[in-house]
Amino acid sequence: MYHDETNEEIEVIQKNAIATMKSLGIPVTPHNYTVWFRYYRGDNAEIVSVLDVMQEAHETFTAEVMSSLFKQFCDDVNEEELIRLRDELQEMVTELYRTVTDLSGESSGFTFAMISCANELNEAESVQEIREVVSRIVDQARAFGEKSARVEEGLDTVQMELESLRAVLSLLQDEVRRDELTGISNRKAFDESLARQISLSRRRNRVFSLIMVDIDHFKKVNDTYGHLIGDEILRYVAQRIDARVRHEDVAARFGGEEFIVLLPETIGDAAYQVAEGIRAAFECTCLNHESGDKMPGTVTVSAGVAEYRYGESAHDLVERVDSALYRAKNAGRNQVCIAE
Ligand code: GH3
Ligand code: MG
Ligand code: MG
Repeated sequence: MYHDETNEEIEVIQKNAIATMKSLGIPVTPHNYTVWFRYYRGDNAEIVSVLDVMQEAHETFTAEVMSSLFKQFCDDVNEEELIRLRDELQEMVTELYRTVTDLSGESSGFTFAMISCANELNEAESVQEIREVVSRIVDQARAFGEKSARVEEGLDTVQMELESLRAVLSLLQDEVRRDELTGISNRKAFDESLARQISLSRRRNRVFSLIMVDIDHFKKVNDTYGHLIGDEILRYVAQRIDARVRHEDVAARFGGEEFIVLLPETIGDAAYQVAEGIRAAFECTCLNHESGDKMPGTVTVSAGVAEYRYGESAHDLVERVDSALYRAKNAGRNQVCIAE
């Protein structure tokens, strides 16, 4: 699970981002757009609070300010995608401006012509005069109808561009949240999910837990069988953990050979059972390589579990789950410890 918004929600976020940028006089460049997209997306509490404070203080969002905001919060976005986004955005915005100007210009011209025809009708004294005015109204309406059809075509194009932009954005969002080696969520995605979960827990008093899993003696695996086999085992462990947790849980690579799982609506004891299931599954599995390459017969894992304490920061919670893992290691590995 990489992001939960529906297409409609993403569209609202895009519109809000563009509207705010226009009202603050910020050019719609991909970097600027990414910052405001994330702000409206609301999953990074820090971006939201920094931009809120700046807006309240009526700060000017100069090119320098925007560039440093981008560096601070969004520097992980792939450059090639950004260039594509920039071109698409620029085209879309130019087209939108043109369409809106056309539409408002034309319709106000048409309204004006209708008002003047209505006045002439009021004052018309002969059938001939009335006929002439009516024929002008018909001409004007026909011309406006043709113009509107062209405008509508333009709107369709804009709509299509918006759709493709949305597709690119959604790919981009997926890409920046995935761990390249294992294919599961990366640390960044986990941090965002955790921040969102903590804010939900604070607002609605929701319980949740974390499990941190670390492969035992993994250095020895690398040393004995080589780094490539090590990578393969990392992929296997990641996929196995991901497959053992629920759809609403977020399993991520925390770093190196450590994995972390966020389990919403789960008390510590239940998370402990999940962790114990993961540990036991590895203990009981014999590894062998299809190609016959040498591999360790089994790998074992140790895990720490922590239930969120109301009001606790992300940092403190991760530190607690990490010390529970440390205790599991010290107690002999291949076991699960629950944080105090
Ligand atoms: P412990 O049981 O205490 O966890 O021992 P350990 O050997 O697993 O832990 P240690 O922290 O000493 O070593 C972790 C190893 O994980 C060292 C590093 O080479 C390996 N590692 C980290 N990232 C990767 C990776 O992406 N690929 C491979 N193949 N190995 C990695
Ligand atoms: Mg290890
Ligand atoms: Mg480790």
